[in-house]
Formats: sequence, structure tokens, C-alpha cells
Amino acid sequence: MKVLLVDDSPVDRVISEAFLLELGHEVILGEDGLQALELYREHHPDIILMDEVMPIMRGHEAARAIREFDDDWVPIIFLSARFTAEDIAAGIDAGGDDYLAKPLDQTILAAKMKALGRIASMRQKLLEVSSELELANVELQRQADVDGLTSLANRRYMDRFLSHEVARCARSKQPLSVIMCDIDEFKLYNDHYGHLKGDDCIKLIAELLASRTRRATDLAARYGGEEFSIILPDTTEGDALKLAHSIRGAVEELNIAHEKSSVTDHVTLSLGVFNATPSHILRGADYLNFADKALYHAKQSGRNKVVAYSDMEA
Ligand code: GH3
Ligand code: MG
Ligand code: MG
Repeated sequence: MKVLLVDDSPVDRVISEAFLLELGHEVILGEDGLQALELYREHHPDIILMDEVMPIMRGHEAARAIREFDDDWVPIIFLSARFTAEDIAAGIDAGGDDYLAKPLDQTILAAKMKALGRIASMRQKLLEVSSELELANVELQRQADVDGLTSLANRRYMDRFLSHEVARCARSKQPLSVIMCDIDEFKLYNDHYGHLKGDDCIKLIAELLASRTRRATDLAARYGGEEFSIILPDTTEGDALKLAHSIRGAVEELNIAHEKSSVTDHVTLSLGVFNATPSHILRGADYLNFADKALYHAKQSGRNKVVAYSDMEA
């Protein structure tokens, strides 16, 4: 172990250092409490052996400063020729862990070092396990928000995101747009090409949606089955429609064969767009609902189309 040995008495320092070296430890030497603090910061020792009675800064004051400076824990053993009950209580209160009487007995020193080393290594293991758990938790949280097939955000995450953005845009009085998309005649696609090809097709469309919603504030999500939703905060209807049209065109350009489609001979997408500046009466669910109505209209009027909710009202 790397041991920080702090003692103002040169004779005691030499004796303790010799013991520690003989036990196979690496030793860093200090002469008072202030030096202890500096050497601790510089060397990050595994254990500190520190005389209690020293000039400039006493051992327990140095221990308190070390504990305040660092969240990490390093065992601190106080050394002294004579301890009163008050000394011991003050030392432990200041963050020390044990006491050793001077002159040091090498066997006792070795035993105490072993015991504290054991506690330190158990603590290290605990820290490692808890940081692994933390990482696992982050990963679980991520998985809970992501759709397994497409890696887009899932419905659960999208719902949370949308209600958050509705509230934010309401405060900032910014328009919010939602696009609902649905693959045309996908049941026929599955029936003809099989479910696995169907999955591949969903993945390709999802990739395209992800690549078209690169703005940090935009979110493309798998709403369910072969339906997707795109949330566009701070976006006007005009810009949302532009994006919807470009996505529709890009899906056509993917040119995924769909022999059985009544629309054309490749896979197409229908899209419904709803835009409004949120007010207290509009909730996230309303945005989805109105965009879905526009989508339904796109399906009714021949598919492979973009329809804005505002056009339906006109
Ligand atoms: P429309 O043009 O009106 O949207 O017709 P559609 O056939 O696409 O709509 P419908 O809702 O009748 O069928 C959707 C199909 O999507 C049915 C289902 O088998 C398929 N589907 C949903 N989720 C998945 C999936 O994860 N993988 C695959 N391969 N197919 C899926
Ligand atoms: Mg469909
Ligand atoms: Mg559908």
C-alpha cells in the first residue's frame, strides 16, 4: 500500500518508516498537519498514519480537513505516546479510524494495517458494484424508452416528451407541430412478403424518419405497428408540411417493392399534420388525435399523401 506517514518527531518518523518499508509498503513522509493535507492531495495514499500532537496543525485537525476536502474515504490511523479518552473521541469525530500507541509495535502495526486495508478494499468493491449498478440503471432506463425493432423512441417516451413540449411551447407561445405517419397497405405487404420482410421495411422507414429529424428538439417515435409520430416543437405548419412532403417523397425514393399495393408498385406512406400554439385547453393527446384525423383523411383520399388538419376544416 501507499502509506502517508506524518510525524513531527524525526526519530519516530525514521522508526515508523523502517517498519513500514519492512512490511513492504511505499512510504510518503510529512512533518506536520498542513504538509499532510498537501501530500494527501498530491499522492492519494491508500492509508494515512499520523501523529496526533504536532505543531502548526494537530493530527485530528488535519484529518478533518482531509475529510472535508475529499468525498473519498482513506483510512486514517493516529499515532501518539499518550491518548486521553477526549483525544480518542475528538480524533474519531474528526474522521479518524483508529489509534496506535507509540512506540510502535511492528506486529500490532501490521495487524491494524491489514484490518484497515481489508475494509478499504471491501469499500472499493462496493463502490465498483454501485457504479456498475448505476450504469445498468441508465441502460435500463434507455431501453425502457426505446423501441426494440427500430431504435426510435417508443410510445411511452414520446407521450412524456410531447406533454413536456406542449407545456414548454405554451409558456414560450411557440407553435408546435405533430405529424402522424402510417405505411400504406402494410397488411398486404406482410401477407405477400412475410413478417420478417415486413420488419425490415419498418426499420428502413424508421431510419429515414430518424435521418430527417436531426434537429435536437425534434423527435421521431414508433407510435405502434407501422405507425410513427414526429413531434416538432417551435415549428410552424408550413415547415411541418414541408418536412412531411419531403418524407413522403423520400419513402417513394426508397423504392421498396410492394406488388400488392393498390397505390403503386412500391411502399408508400400517408401523413397527417396538425399544428397549433399550445393553450391550456390543448393537451398532447389532442395533438396526436388531430394529426391522426388528418392521417385518416389522407388514407381516405387515396393514400401516399400529406394532409393538414387545417385543410380538412376549410
Ligand atoms: P392502411 O393503408 O389503411 O394503413 O392499411 P394497412 O394494411 O397498412 O393497415 P392495417 O392497420 O390494416 O394493417 C397494419 C399491418 O401492419 C397489420 C400488421 O400485421 C402489420 N404490422 C404491425 N406491426 C408490425 C410489425 O412490427 N412487424 C410487421 N412485420 N408487421 C407489423
Ligand atoms: Mg398502414
Ligand atoms: Mg396502421
